[in-house]
Amino acid sequence: MQDFDFDLFVIGGGSGGVRAGRVAAQTGARVALAEEDRYGGTCVIRGCVPKKLMVFASEFPAAMSQARAYGWDVQQGAFDWGQFKGQLHAELDRLEGVYRNILKNNGVTTFDARASLVDAHTVMLADGRRFSARHILLAMGGRPVLPDMPGAELGITSNEIFHLPELPKRMLIIGGGYIACEFACILNGLGVEVTQFYRGAQILRGFDDEARGLVAEEMRQNGVDLHLGTNILSMQKEGAQIRVLATNGSDTLFDQVMFATGRAPNTAGMGLAEIGVRLGRNGQVLVDDYSQTSVPSIYAVGDVTDRVNLTPVAIREGMAFVETVFNANPTPVDHALIPTAIFTQPEMGTIGQSEEEARAIGPVEIYATSFKPMRESFAGGTQRVLMKLVVCATTRKVLGCHIVAPGAGEMIQLAGIAVKMGATKEDFDRTVAVHPTMSEEIVTMKQPVRSA
Ligand code: NDP
Repeated sequence: MQDFDFDLFVIGGGSGGVRAGRVAAQTGARVALAEEDRYGGTCVIRGCVPKKLMVFASEFPAAMSQARAYGWDVQQGAFDWGQFKGQLHAELDRLEGVYRNILKNNGVTTFDARASLVDAHTVMLADGRRFSARHILLAMGGRPVLPDMPGAELGITSNEIFHLPELPKRMLIIGGGYIACEFACILNGLGVEVTQFYRGAQILRGFDDEARGLVAEEMRQNGVDLHLGTNILSMQKEGAQIRVLATNGSDTLFDQVMFATGRAPNTAGMGLAEIGVRLGRNGQVLVDDYSQTSVPSIYAVGDVTDRVNLTPVAIREGMAFVETVFNANPTPVDHALIPTAIFTQPEMGTIGQSEEEARAIGPVEIYATSFKPMRESFAGGTQRVLMKLVVCATTRKVLGCHIVAPGAGEMIQLAGIAVKMGATKEDFDRTVAVHPTMSEEIVTMKQPVRSA
């Protein structure tokens, strides 16, 4: 049998790659991993983790104004971006160290270098060193893409947002997906005047219409200047600012423009197509249910495959790969009914089909309630929440659950278990309410608001 330098060579030290490398090493495999940038990948270094810490930072002004309504004599001081940023990056350094240690402690050989492929079993590092491996795992993730328009290079992406020397006074955000909406809320909360342009009719395309409609309405109430059906016509540097002409006829100076117009898989310049790894139209690595590419010794997990681009999914794919290849137990990844949260203010937590998707498939009953929660109502606030269930009229199964509320991300994780188990509306009804909470409404909605 041919002898290889390693049993597994992982390219990419993000969520999927690190998990797969560690778990494979725990089976006794000889594992190497190459990462050209920082360990932890998008999630830890320039995504979920710093984003969530910024969400926390941005929630304090609203909490302080609510505290006054509850009798506290608090004054809202100024936000010190420099201090927060220092602490944020110290935390990211700590987490990167944790990731490096996980690999080291499990005996994974790491290379701080870019890697590319020479053939089905050979990896080459940027310094020319070559290593052979029985299996290769592609886990290079993705990167933000700028749209193809004149002046786009004047804008920044989510990669740069955590490194701004100072917070802009006026900022334009382009896009209507997860990243655009989350950062519109974060920066608005931190005191930046935020304008958001989205080219479509409503933000968060693909999610339940009623839920995304409420998120949009609340974002506007909170001060985000959201323009739908709007895009940039041209951008020009003007002193330290950027002049933006838009399709809605506006002509405005901004201190920063951020593009959150989607992400692309990191597959360029890796030699993939050259050795027969099939790529899709977006440059994503095409894989089967077991994450195997068109070259049998090469697998791929996470955003580089552009399946469901979420950290926990990449981790699952990495674990299933190890189970399949190193434990001789072929394990496909279950991509059905994945709960997810969008950390806007208010948050949206969602699992399963939107009302629109479900209606197109068969008869449904819709249970929904929108109300001002106790905490908000007492403080004289205006923010509403939404609890919604999409129920199959024939099987009675809950096909979708959509929550727009503070803490919706936490709620949907738990509601997601029931939906994933195939719970019926009657199972929800049999569960006693936890009182007084917002989420108790999810088990107390008696009459459908509509059937279709
Ligand atoms: P999305 O694909 O979600 O959104 C891209 C947005 O940019 C869409 O609104 C799209 O419009 C718009 N757009 C695309 N091209 C252009 C263009 N040329 N001009 C104007 N607008 C354009 O990407 P994101 O970058 O927001 O996020 C990437 C992925 O990362 C998400 O899909 C998600 O999987 C993951 N993510 C998850 C998070 C979470 O779990 N909380 C947080 C952040 C990211 P249109 O709708 O018309 O196509």
